[in-house]
Amino acid sequence: MNELLQKNLQELAGLKFVCSCGKKHSIDINDVRLGNHILTDITDSLQSFPKGTLLLVADCNTFEAGGREVEDILSKNFKIEKLIYSNPHLHPDEVSVEQLRSAMNPDITGIIVVGSGTLNDITRYVSFETKVPYLVVCTAPSMDGYASMVSPMITKGVKVTYNAVYPYSIIAELSIMKEAPFHMIHAGLGDIVGKYSALADWKLANILHDEYYCEITAQLVEKAVEQCVSSAPGIMARSVESIRSIIEGLILSGMCIGMTGSSRPASGEEHLLSHTWEMLGLIRRQETHLHGNQVGIGTEIILHVYQFLLQLDIHKVYADGKFRSFTREKWERHIKQLFGDVAPQIIKQKEPYVNFSETDREEAAKHIVDKWEEMKEHVFLKMPSPSSYRKMMEEAGSHLGPLDLKLDRESFRLSLITAKEIRQRFGVMQMLDDLGLLEEVAEMITAKYYL
Ligand SMILES: [Zn+2]
Ligand SMILES: [Zn+2]
Repeated sequence: MNELLQKNLQELAGLKFVCSCGKKHSIDINDVRLGNHILTDITDSLQSFPKGTLLLVADCNTFEAGGREVEDILSKNFKIEKLIYSNPHLHPDEVSVEQLRSAMNPDITGIIVVGSGTLNDITRYVSFETKVPYLVVCTAPSMDGYASMVSPMITKGVKVTYNAVYPYSIIAELSIMKEAPFHMIHAGLGDIVGKYSALADWKLANILHDEYYCEITAQLVEKAVEQCVSSAPGIMARSVESIRSIIEGLILSGMCIGMTGSSRPASGEEHLLSHTWEMLGLIRRQETHLHGNQVGIGTEIILHVYQFLLQLDIHKVYADGKFRSFTREKWERHIKQLFGDVAPQIIKQKEPYVNFSETDREEAAKHIVDKWEEMKEHVFLKMPSPSSYRKMMEEAGSHLGPLDLKLDRESFRLSLITAKEIRQRFGVMQMLDDLGLLEEVAEMITAKYYL
């Protein structure tokens, strides 16, 4: 086993090494501190921070959960300004980014963000833009963005992932996170178990399209998933060990994004589904679940896809030749039906990457047939079944399923067909489309939930 897999987060922070994948990986986080009652460590962490005023960023909930205490600790040694978002249901969009930008006066030399999800996405984005470093105090083990260096933002209604920076340091205070609302802890678990599907997409892209793949990064992510799955039953008792496993897994997953320079190891079709549902929520002005909760739902759907692939007679699929019936008109119609006004932007971005030529589609399908056994061995057979996945999530206390998205049947079905169009990244749904099976599978999965 690679020695990297034995290292804890503190040891991984700051590491630089040349990997067998050919890349030089570096984890440019100054330090990670994880434990009980370690908030006072924040002063140590800030020793080498540029001198000046600190901007404390929180929302009204996270300020109560830990922000006030952080302010008390810091105000002994630092000059502090505050930005407290009054809306705890923030979206990472132009409005919330602008609020932070305007709070960034020239005296600010460091940002301290106390919070999870969106607060981190916004801070990371503005930190990158302004070159002002930030430190994060995690308040809930709810997403893998703490150690990430990409920021998923919503621009003109479309979810786009921007390059950003790692935090200077991460303070993961278990006594705060342990008390986080259950749906936030379940969101963290959902974001981690989504890696089953993300890693599978990555491997498929590697096998079919020779996409860059790093075995060590994949193993690190797998280890995080296994650790979280085994500690899932302790969540409802708020066991410190379960909370620790989840936050460690989430931070590790973020580090892996930085190691490869892309969200590939941590985000696949399950994330595209979650992003799509979030976009629909914004378009329709409907409240959605947290990112990780939706990723968890997306993962269940993707596991149904793998169950379907396992029993597929690929030679019959090729002989049937349904992949020939793909048309530009139908492709556009699906996107327009689901996304309405946002559709033209999605179509414009994706169009250059879509295979409309019949000969190219024939070739793509043939290539999938040729690689079928290799994919089966390295990917399909390694996936958990949807029922064992459901059981694990329920033991963890999470009962969310596709119907909790509160989408009408047709929107749900269309979301399975078109989620892959919001990015140019190969995954299992694209493979289904290349085989001419996507609509059939989308209907099959929809019928499992909607009578
Ligand atoms: Zn590597
Ligand atoms: Zn995620």
